[in-house]
Amino acid sequence: MDLYTSLYVGVCLAALVWHVRRRRRLEHLSAKAQEKTGAAEPASLHPVIADHCIGCSSCIKACPEQAHHTVLGLLRGRAHLVSPGDCIGHGACKTACPVDAITLVFGSERRGVDIPLVTPTFESTVPGIFIAGELGGMGLIRNALEQGRQVIESIAQKHRPGGSGGQQLDVLIVGAGPAGFSASLTAKSKNMRYVTIEQESLGGAVFQYPRGKLVMTAPATVPLLGKVNFRQTSKEALLEFWTDAERKTGVKINYKERVEDITRSGDGFIVKTNRGTYPTRSVLLAIGRRGTPRKLGVP
Ligand SMILES: Cc1cc2nc3c(=O)[nH]c(=O)nc-3n(C[C@H](O)[C@H](O)[C@H](O)COP(=O)(O)OP(=O)(O)OC[C@H]3O[C@@H](n4cnc5c(N)ncnc54)[C@H](O)[C@@H]3O)c2cc1C
Ligand code: SF4
Repeated sequence: MDLYTSLYVGVCLAALVWHVRRRRRLEHLSAKAQEKTGAAEPASLHPVIADHCIGCSSCIKACPEQAHHTVLGLLRGRAHLVSPGDCIGHGACKTACPVDAITLVFGSERRGVDIPLVTPTFESTVPGIFIAGELGGMGLIRNALEQGRQVIESIAQKHRPGGSGGQQLDVLIVGAGPAGFSASLTAKSKNMRYVTIEQESLGGAVFQYPRGKLVMTAPATVPLLGKVNFRQTSKEALLEFWTDAERKTGVKINYKERVEDITRSGDGFIVKTNRGTYPTRSVLLAIGRRGTPRKLGVP
């Protein structure tokens, strides 16, 4: 090798080492900043990676969110949850790990486990108020769809649909994300007296995904629709399917209406929204965990 070639190879190697070191330093700084601020704590189920991780990257490659965010990354030869706030609890990392170094957990040391207590039929500590979907701690579309259905089935078993009499509803469903939509279809299929209130649009968090997002899900059973067989689809295709289902089934959802207050009244509740007041026997909170984002109002 002549002098020029050796120099050229040397410069290339130095640049590569500099690049790798810089990348590792930035990843380390980013992880430290996340840890310090706690601004991006995982919202639901997420991986904790044990010390015996061998740094094979299988979990990183398996994470379906990796195409949009760097959820998992390698730091000093071990996998880390580098962007906890972007982890939505698919759990694909755990299955992919060849040395069983991943445990899936709720909550974190800093934030604790702030998920509501519910009974096996999803009733909260306030009898008559039920919780389904991501608010209960389990993220993912399939879980939300299944839980929405199960809650309504258990309410229908507890109180005969239409048995309340007068103006009282059997159930008032708050939210029309996957959990609230599936609950509404179930309520309609059981001829229950129900009202669904949604402050924004059909689809909940799905409606807010970035354009063209790849959506990973699993088959779920939804009354009036049967088995919904999506495994891998796009945000747009999924919303189109739901909008079509809404039209075909005639399920009614009150959009742009926001629930502001729930008070106990006799054997049920009075639910107040920005548009009216509803007496109801039970309430299903399917409001997810995004809260009500403040909008800038910029067109
Ligand atoms: C960026 C991102 C990507 C994701 N990708 C996937 C994926 O690929 N696969 C997957 O399975 N899961 C994915 N998830 C998770 C999935 O979207 C959620 O777990 C799921 O949408 C939860 O459904 P939900 O019905 O419980 O709540 P949400 O979808 O959050 O719906 C709650 C609804 O309640 C409404 N609401 C809230 N408060 C009120 C009120 N006071 N009055 C009236 N309405 C109210 C909201 O407007 C909202 O429409 C992703 C999440 C995010 C953020
Ligand atoms: S798959 Fe397991 S061993 Fe491989 S990097 Fe991820 S946690 Fe580590």
